[in-house]
Amino acid sequence: MKNFKTILVAIDFSDSSDNAFQAALMMSKQFSARLLILHVINEPVDLRGFYVPHISFDKLEEEIEEGAKKLMESFCRQHIKNFDDFETFISPGIPYETIISKATDEGADLIVIGTHGRTGLDHVLFGSTAEKVVRKSSLPVLSVRLDEN
Ligand code: AMP
Repeated sequence: MKNFKTILVAIDFSDSSDNAFQAALMMSKQFSARLLILHVINEPVDLRGFYVPHISFDKLEEEIEEGAKKLMESFCRQHIKNFDDFETFISPGIPYETIISKATDEGADLIVIGTHGRTGLDHVLFGSTAEKVVRKSSLPVLSVRLDEN
């Protein structure tokens, strides 16, 4: 395996993904790798135009994207010090698919995720996004468990 040059970390703003982010940041520093930070807006695309007219859905989408951008900015301000080689992405879609396709499109060598996310189903070994990314990605995946102790 070659050195990691580009690492993609997927964050859902949960404690678990915060923890995965710390691992990704540490590895980026150690390998002098570019860090791509991705949040996927998991939106109910199928409902578009069914319950609400297109125009209000478009407005809602804009507001959701604005909110996500602000969350991402505040996340980066809080979590990243003395490190510049990173880029952020907010993309709508199905989280596991978008994580894999973004990592592939951007030429990442490694995907970093938390074993769990905001659903907090700690009794399962992996959350459903984590499990699908691990199963379907052809890139190496590092899944990081949040130690509750
Ligand atoms: P889950 O499988 O949903 O419990 O989440 C496991 C991990 O997948 C999280 O810790 C994140 O690293 C990643 N993840 C889940 N949902 C998203 C999302 N909407 N955007 C980016 N990453 C996500």
